[in-house]
Amino acid sequence: MFTIKNYINGGLVEPKGGTYLDNFNPATGQVYSKIPDSDRADVEQAVAAAKAAFPSWSRIPKEARSKILAKVADLIEANLDKLALAESTDNGKPVSLAKNVDIPRAAANFNFFATAILHYASESHAMEKGVINYTLREPIGIAGCISPWNLPLYLFTWKIAPALAAGNTVIAKPSEVTPMTAYLLSELCIEAGVPPGVLNIIHGLGNKVGASITAHPDIPMISFTGGTETGAEIARIAAPMFKKLSLELGGKNPNIIFANCNFDKMLKTTLKSSFSNQGEICLCGSRIFIEKPLYEKFKSAFVAATQLLKVGDPLNKDSDMGAIVSEAHTEKIMSYIELAKEEGGTVLAGGKRVTLPGEHQNGWYIEPTIIEGLGHECRTNQEEIFGPVVTLIPFDSEDEVIEMANSTRYGLSATIWTNNLQTAHQVANHLHVGIAWINCWLLRDLRTPFGGSKSSGVGREGGFEALSFFTEPKNVCINY
Ligand code: NDP
Repeated sequence: MFTIKNYINGGLVEPKGGTYLDNFNPATGQVYSKIPDSDRADVEQAVAAAKAAFPSWSRIPKEARSKILAKVADLIEANLDKLALAESTDNGKPVSLAKNVDIPRAAANFNFFATAILHYASESHAMEKGVINYTLREPIGIAGCISPWNLPLYLFTWKIAPALAAGNTVIAKPSEVTPMTAYLLSELCIEAGVPPGVLNIIHGLGNKVGASITAHPDIPMISFTGGTETGAEIARIAAPMFKKLSLELGGKNPNIIFANCNFDKMLKTTLKSSFSNQGEICLCGSRIFIEKPLYEKFKSAFVAATQLLKVGDPLNKDSDMGAIVSEAHTEKIMSYIELAKEEGGTVLAGGKRVTLPGEHQNGWYIEPTIIEGLGHECRTNQEEIFGPVVTLIPFDSEDEVIEMANSTRYGLSATIWTNNLQTAHQVANHLHVGIAWINCWLLRDLRTPFGGSKSSGVGREGGFEALSFFTEPKNVCINY
C-alpha cells in the first residue's frame, strides 16, 4: 500500500514516531494509503529547517523566488491528469471537476503570486518640506498554513504561494482526510528546485500537528482555512502569543432570487451553487430565498433539474456528483436531513443515501436534497451542513430577505439574482458578507479580497491583501 511521507528540509521523510494513519477512498470506503501520524517532534524538525532556510530565501531577489514558484506552477500543469485523479480518489469529487477547477486553480495560485510579488510596492508619505515616510514590507519568518479537505490542493496552494512569494518559509499541514495532492506537491517542489527548508509539509491530525504549529513560539503567523470552531480554538491559542492570524471559516450562504431575474441562467447556476463538489464548497449557497411570485415555478424546475443529477463513481466522466469525503461527514449530513424533518421540513428531492453497485457499494454517497417549509431561524437554516442539502424559503420584500439572509452567525458569501440594477446594488450593500455575487457564482478574480465577516472569518486573503498579511510593514521617517 502506498505510504505518504512528510516533506522536511527538502527531503521526503518518515514521521519520527513511526506511526501511520489510514487514508480512505470515499468512493469505495476502503483504505488505500497510509499517511504519517506526525506529532510535535516532526513539527520541531520542520521549524529548525524553516528557520535555517529563512535568511537566504527572504534575501534572494524576488525575481529568483518568482522563477521557482512559476516552475512549480508549470509542473502542476504538466501533471494535471495525475493530480486530478489523485484529488478525485482522495476526496470523492468528480475527476472532471478536479481536472477543470481544482488543479488548474492550484497552478494559477502559484503563477498569480509568482508574478504578483514583482508588482507589489509599498507606500511613501511626504510630510512638510524635508520630511518623508516610507514603508518597508518585509517577510516575517515562518508561516504556518493549515487547510481543509474540501478543495485540498486548491486551498493549500492559496496559502503557501503568497507566503513563499513574500519571502517567508512555510510549515504547512493539509487535512489528514485528503493528504495525497499535498504529498504530490512536495515531489514537484523537489523537482522544481525549491531550496531545502523553504516549504515543509507535515501530515497528521489537527489536534497534534495543527495544534503544534499553532502553539509554536517560532511560527509568528497562521493562515487557517477550516471550520469556525477550529478557527476559534486556533485564535484562543495564537492570540495571546500575538501571532498574525488569517482565519477563513464556515458559511451558510444565502442565494437570493428575485422574480425579475434571468430564469434560465439563474436555474443553471443555482444547480451548481447548490450541489457542486457535493455541496462541500464553503461558497455554496445553502439557503435559497425565492421571491413569492416565482416560488412555484422555481420549485418545480429546480426539483426536476436536481432529480436529473447523476450521483456516481467520481472517476466516471458522466457523474455530476461523487462521494462525500468521509463516513463521519456523511453521518453528519444525514443527521441534518433528519433534523430538518423533525423541525417540520418537507423533503422535495433526495434525502437518502445512495448505494452504488460493485466495488463502490461501501462508498459514501448522498442524493442532492431539497427541503422546504422551514423558518429561517431553525437550526437547519442557521447551522452549516456542508453537503448536498439546500432549503427553499419564500420572501415578499427586499427588507424581509435582507433580514433573513443576515440572520445567521455566518457572513461569507451571497448570490443575488435580479435584472433590476437598483435592487442588485441595494441588496449587496446591506448583506453582511465578504463576497456578494450578482447574477453569477464563484467567479473569482485572484486580485480581489477574499474572506468572511462575522463567524466566517478574520482578515482577507487574495491579491495584495495576502502579500500584506504575509509581510510586516515598518515605517521609516526621515527629516532630510
Ligand atoms: P476543520 O476545521 O475540521 O479542519 C481544517 C484543518 O484544521 C484541517 O487540516 C484539520 O486537521 C486542522 N485542525 C483541526 N483541529 C485543529 C487544531 N486544534 N489546531 C490546528 N489545526 C486543526 O475543517 P474541515 O477540514 O472539516 O473543513 C470544512 C470547513 O472548512 C467548513 O466549515 C467550511 O466552511 C470551511 N471552509 C472555509 C473556507 C473559506 O474560505 N472560508 C473554504 C473551505 C472550507 P484534520 O483534518 O486532521 O482534523
